[in-house]
Amino acid sequence: GGGRPGKTELQKARMHLSLQEHLWAFFHERVAIPSEEQAAARRAALDICAELRVFLHAKLPDMPLREMYLSGSLYDDLQVVTADHAQLMVPMILEKNLWSFVPGEDTIMNVPGFWLVRRENLEYFPRGSSYWDRCMVGGYLSPKSVLEVFEKLVAGSINWPAIGSVLDYVIRPVVPSETLALEVQYETDRRLYVDFLPLLVMEDGVSLIAKPHRLAAERHENLWRQSFHVAQTAKLRALDQEDSGCRCACLKVVKAVCKLNPALARLNASQLSNAILLLCEQESDWTQEALANRFMQLLRALVGHLEAGRLPCILNLKVDLFCELTPQEIDELGYTLYCALSDPESLLRT
Ligand code: GDP
Repeated sequence: GGGRPGKTELQKARMHLSLQEHLWAFFHERVAIPSEEQAAARRAALDICAELRVFLHAKLPDMPLREMYLSGSLYDDLQVVTADHAQLMVPMILEKNLWSFVPGEDTIMNVPGFWLVRRENLEYFPRGSSYWDRCMVGGYLSPKSVLEVFEKLVAGSINWPAIGSVLDYVIRPVVPSETLALEVQYETDRRLYVDFLPLLVMEDGVSLIAKPHRLAAERHENLWRQSFHVAQTAKLRALDQEDSGCRCACLKVVKAVCKLNPALARLNASQLSNAILLLCEQESDWTQEALANRFMQLLRALVGHLEAGRLPCILNLKVDLFCELTPQEIDELGYTLYCALSDPESLLRT
């Protein structure tokens, strides 16, 4: 057998090679953030976090919180293009006997991946027995109300201009914002957004965050969002470590593609990393040389998930990571990616 490869095969090989080269060039030129820039952004976020800790300890010593901490792609080395955002996690302490967690699939809303937090034993421990009763709405702990408590504090009673001038930053709360955020200008041309993310951790380790359901109809208002962030990121990193693979690089490239192409902006890090983890179950070759093949396969897989209208979460297959997209958004994303299959390099020309 053997024989010389035909002309189209050579052409294909050349196209393949050039996509591979283009992807790595794109990675180094556009995707990766210089370590100096990352360090400066992390420092600014840490300064803000330290100020807030001092403020909350002094002003609200009885608010049942664990120590706040910073997290997100800036800390996982998965941020792309610019170092411009971080999450400030605010872990809340709930009394075990006063609150219980109801999975979304057991409620009339039937949304796996979201939870209700129900107040228990009100007859023996009346309203006011738990600090967080002030955020109770209709018998449930309302993430919206929790965010409002922090908003009043952060936007209303902290003297950010004074703190900013000490740190030599310009700090202002972002209002209105979907969640609660601070904008920190830490150098003349560098801005960082710090999102507040109140967080509940269940005994079995499940984390819920106060980030509202995007298609928040009124009946969705009390839903807490289960976070798969930590487990997903750890899994991806562990797989890469085993074989010096390019899964994280592939994720960063596709995140940058979605960040830089407005038509793809609706695809988020969680969906993309999940799609890669699903692909890892079929594909074992994630060597650096395979980046272009895996990237194309990922695009095809995403088109497939969008066609199906559903993206099962690898950590809980009942959870649909597309459930907050409208049918029209799903169509548009699918169309954009489908068109890109025949000209993937168009995605890198931004
Ligand atoms: P990036 O923001 O696209 O670079 O990707 P990230 O991986 O940092 O994702 C951050 C987003 O995930 C934010 O919008 C968060 O609201 C959301 N998120 C969900 N769960 C978590 C969590 O446990 N930690 C953090 N940091 N973000 C989470």
